[in-house]
Amino acid sequence: INFSQARFLTSAPNIRQLPADEGIEVAFAGRSNAGKSSALNALTRQRQLARTSKTPGRTQLINVFTLTESQRLIDLPGYGFAKVPLEIKLKWQKSLGEYLQMRKCLRGLVVLMDIRHPFKDLDQELIHWAVSSNIAVLAVLTKADKLKSGARKKALMQAEEAVPAFGGDVKVITFSSTSKHGLPQLEDTLSQWLNQ
Ligand code: GDP
Repeated sequence: INFSQARFLTSAPNIRQLPADEGIEVAFAGRSNAGKSSALNALTRQRQLARTSKTPGRTQLINVFTLTESQRLIDLPGYGFAKVPLEIKLKWQKSLGEYLQMRKCLRGLVVLMDIRHPFKDLDQELIHWAVSSNIAVLAVLTKADKLKSGARKKALMQAEEAVPAFGGDVKVITFSSTSKHGLPQLEDTLSQWLNQ
């Protein structure tokens, strides 16, 4: 798949306003600042496809990008901002759960986590939801360039030891948008999902 053909299609304020549940999509999720936008931009070879600057608490939109007529990338709003009111957090969690449960065209979920502090509560919850909906998960340990090779390998090993506890199809890779480390692996998994 040529990911550089990704184009912005629409922003949806909630899951009910996403495009029709047809074709195939894969979604990207992560805590705010995990490196999701940078990863999407690296993947699509576009510097500004996903916005890397955020205003905490601002209305959060689901961004939809098309690859081909029947294949989409979904950029889910970042979670975990301390300053977001609880009511909005809970609403978002509910709608994220619904999206994972109801969306028939969803083939896989990429969960981006800073390699230095992966598997926070909401990350784990999200992975649990995906697994219980039979959705494949790729845990992407981002900003791998921040660690030396030894520490990076250790972080990967620890993550690989942690994922069987989730039960389902959960893989782990290390990744860096800066060095493009892990990009081929990310592309491989996405291509598998999108071509199913
Ligand atoms: P998002 O909130 O998950 O979309 O995160 P962003 O992509 O906006 O990245 C958050 C911050 O982390 C920004 O300052 C990025 O420059 C930085 N960042 C993202 N990816 C990497 C990476 O691979 N390596 C390093 N060193 N910094 C990164």
